[in-house]
Amino acid sequence: MTTSSPVRTRFAPSPTGFLHIGGARTALFSWAYARRHGGTFVLRIEDTDVARSTPAAVQAILDGMQWLGLAHDEGPFYQMQRMERYKVVIQQMLEAGTAYHCYMSKDELDQLRAEQEARKEKPRYNGLWRPEPGKVLPVIPPSVEPVVRFRNPVEGSVVWEDQVKGRVEFANAELDDFIIARADGTPTYNFCVVVDDCDMAITHVIRGDDHVNNTPRQINLLTALGAPVPSYAHLSMILGDDGQKLSKRHGAVSVMQYDDDGYLPAAVLNYLARLGWSHGDDELFSMEQFVAWFDLDHITASAAQFNTEKLNWLNAQYIKVADNAQLATDVHRRLAQRGVSTVAGPDLERVIGLYKDRVSNLNELADAVHPFYVMAHASEDLRAQHLTEVARAALVDLAQVLASATWQATDLGNAVKETAKAQGLKMPQVAIPLRVVLLGQPQSPAIDAVLEVFGRDEVLRRLQAL
Ligand code: GLU
Repeated sequence: MTTSSPVRTRFAPSPTGFLHIGGARTALFSWAYARRHGGTFVLRIEDTDVARSTPAAVQAILDGMQWLGLAHDEGPFYQMQRMERYKVVIQQMLEAGTAYHCYMSKDELDQLRAEQEARKEKPRYNGLWRPEPGKVLPVIPPSVEPVVRFRNPVEGSVVWEDQVKGRVEFANAELDDFIIARADGTPTYNFCVVVDDCDMAITHVIRGDDHVNNTPRQINLLTALGAPVPSYAHLSMILGDDGQKLSKRHGAVSVMQYDDDGYLPAAVLNYLARLGWSHGDDELFSMEQFVAWFDLDHITASAAQFNTEKLNWLNAQYIKVADNAQLATDVHRRLAQRGVSTVAGPDLERVIGLYKDRVSNLNELADAVHPFYVMAHASEDLRAQHLTEVARAALVDLAQVLASATWQATDLGNAVKETAKAQGLKMPQVAIPLRVVLLGQPQSPAIDAVLEVFGRDEVLRRLQAL
């Protein structure tokens, strides 16, 4: 690739499951690289594995990308809709002699494999049907549909300068003439990837390192097609908190699970950005900063380890600075799922303002604001502990004062203080029982702020129900 080619990256998930954290990171890096270079980010759905691909999985991927805000510039392209194109290229390769028909039956292949294994050799196709100058090919057996094999170079090696792993080399002797079209004419995985990367003029392939073994085959195919070879960056895998390969055991497998668990997409993106990439010691940064900083040089070749504590910390930071209106939209949805309406209660944005620097996820935020919208019921234990005779008497007095107080935090704080003093109590001896009555729990942000946000009517109503 010449450096002047406009950068084109792609994310090419197989829709066989959710968009998981590893896929999301691959998507983020591909997206950011395109953005960084004013390039184009392509979304391609690799759905040729018809047995495992489902429309629901496609939707889950699109939903996950949308939730994260990783917008593609082109696509989604579906490989199943490109079958005609693959057939054309296969035909061209047959005509050019870079691919050939192979009529070896399954039994023959099995036998070949058994012999190779007996000799302790790596099972590989023996080139029986590979045309060579002067070679006489076997007689084509009747009624056998051939597969199409790629004529892989036999000599030398495939080398690429991986942007993450450095120089990678595979001897061509290790790669056999792999099948590019099955007997029923359907193209195979590596072939479709190559035709697509070529047609979509992809300049940078950023993907998981589980594809390293496919890369030499793909490079040989691209070369046979006369296509430019893109740059490759193979991202190391992500390990779970426990250092084991990230798997379903680690709970949050789908990106959308993070939504359910109360994470802000911005926090998840920030977290993913640091998963195997760094910019000095920066931990907290915006996507604008990330795009401005992102490069392939600072991707670590070693595996990145997931750290839930760090994600939680980041999420708390993002919630703290988030716009109250934006948080309110989210919390409203969470409360509605619990059957709680915020229409009649205090202004949700103000309630959120009281709590947003005290929580680490949006479910905790919903939990915290919940008692503002339904009558809170403290447990019997809490009531017995805090609503003593003395406390009740103080709350009755307080209700009277509040009935005519100026509804403003400072005055409300003074009202609580004065009532306590008049009863010979310390302020917490009134404020804590007041919290138990209002919120069903003994802790809350500053009581004057809580009272102010609640509003007179609701405070008096709850005190009356004492
Ligand atoms: N479809 C492949 C996957 O989901 C990715 C192929 C690629 O990025 O080249 O693992």
